[in-house]
Amino acid sequence: LRSLDRMARLEPRLNATASLDRARTLAAARDADARLARGERSPVLGIPVVLKDNLNWKGAPVGNGSRIQRGYRAPYDATVVRRLLEAGAVPVAKANMDEFAMGSSGEHSASGPARNPWDLSRVPGGSSSGSVVAVAAGYAPLALGTDTGGSVRLPGSFCNVTALRPTYGALSRYGVTAMASSLDIVGPVAASARDLAAALSVMAGSDPLDATSVDLPGRERLAELRPRALKGLRIGLPRECFGEGIEEGVRGVLEAALRALEAEGAELVEVSLPHTRFAIDTYYLITTSEVSSNLARFDGVRFGARTPSETLDTMVAATRDEGFGMEAKRRILLGAFCLSRGYYEAFYLKAQKARTLILRDFTEAFGQVDVLATPVCPGTAFPLGDRTGDPLSMYLSDVFTVTPSLAALPALSMPAGFASGLPVGLQLIGPSLSDVSLLELAHAYQ
Ligand code: GLN
Repeated sequence: LRSLDRMARLEPRLNATASLDRARTLAAARDADARLARGERSPVLGIPVVLKDNLNWKGAPVGNGSRIQRGYRAPYDATVVRRLLEAGAVPVAKANMDEFAMGSSGEHSASGPARNPWDLSRVPGGSSSGSVVAVAAGYAPLALGTDTGGSVRLPGSFCNVTALRPTYGALSRYGVTAMASSLDIVGPVAASARDLAAALSVMAGSDPLDATSVDLPGRERLAELRPRALKGLRIGLPRECFGEGIEEGVRGVLEAALRALEAEGAELVEVSLPHTRFAIDTYYLITTSEVSSNLARFDGVRFGARTPSETLDTMVAATRDEGFGMEAKRRILLGAFCLSRGYYEAFYLKAQKARTLILRDFTEAFGQVDVLATPVCPGTAFPLGDRTGDPLSMYLSDVFTVTPSLAALPALSMPAGFASGLPVGLQLIGPSLSDVSLLELAHAYQ
């Protein structure tokens, strides 16, 4: 299998995978061949796929980029994985990732960072670092990541691939390790919007095992994606996203991409999302709160690693102390603080109110335009080690990706060009459940 050869050759440099099972992959490939020979067809039959290491694939390790998960194997398939397998996709690897999907660079992984294939001295972006590198480096045409605040879109932009954060609920979260449950969603990564659509066509559809899952309107248009008509399409450019702080090279690339859309008949309209300035604070208050609650289950009793100690209490403390990395600890502490008595109203509740204001900004904007376009990130891939000592500068990379997440909207990141040799992505954001039209738009551009 070409995927396996390529991984064997490039992994020493890229570190994009977390685990492989050659025998199982080859068996799945043989099975897909047999199905193809019988004349069976599906958009992903025989297609190699890389799975982020927070997705359950029955029997395979679920590492979550963490020491605390060592030795743990999935007892069942995540719904998205099961649907891909049933449609004949061939899993070739689990992917490296930031610990419990928390990070913007891929550097918060217990097994060391994945590297950006465009420049090995730079980060690939995170947290779905390995999934995105796998597609960029040709391990597989398709990978699954997850996106809570930008985790497929940001690395997609840094590595020149197309990545979709679907409308919240459009893909089941069953069998996906929870980070921040009110924002988590599985996000496919591929070379083009067409390939994303093919993957989405087999994975979408509500799931009785996830009460927040919903059906995706227009799903029948995914298998044979058509380009969206650009003539008369109103594309909103939020003033707050094109102001100061954007690297000049990035701005140049995005302006050229937008002009190309305009040349095809789209209309560019300036709009405003006035509460964007509260987005990072709101996002990090809500996510750390949910993280502190979700990660409470990793206690040495039920999943993975255990550090032995005399009493139950000291065992739990020692396991968590040894098992979690710095960023996970930072967020657990911040979250526990935000949720504690006396602070809950001042922080968590206030953040929920700000979230509503951010959602209203989008509702108003979509009264004027069909879709919004923004940078994915103010800059390009940064050097490894550049931001690990400064969490705030790391968090600021997420400034444009967290707003659609907070509003539960679909958002897509697609390659727009290069600045000083590094990829730059354009983010397209659509109204709730407009995922299919968003993909059709990206397809028209590509
Ligand atoms: N970088 C963001 C964070 O660290 C996004 C993470 C994600 O989407 N999983 O929270």
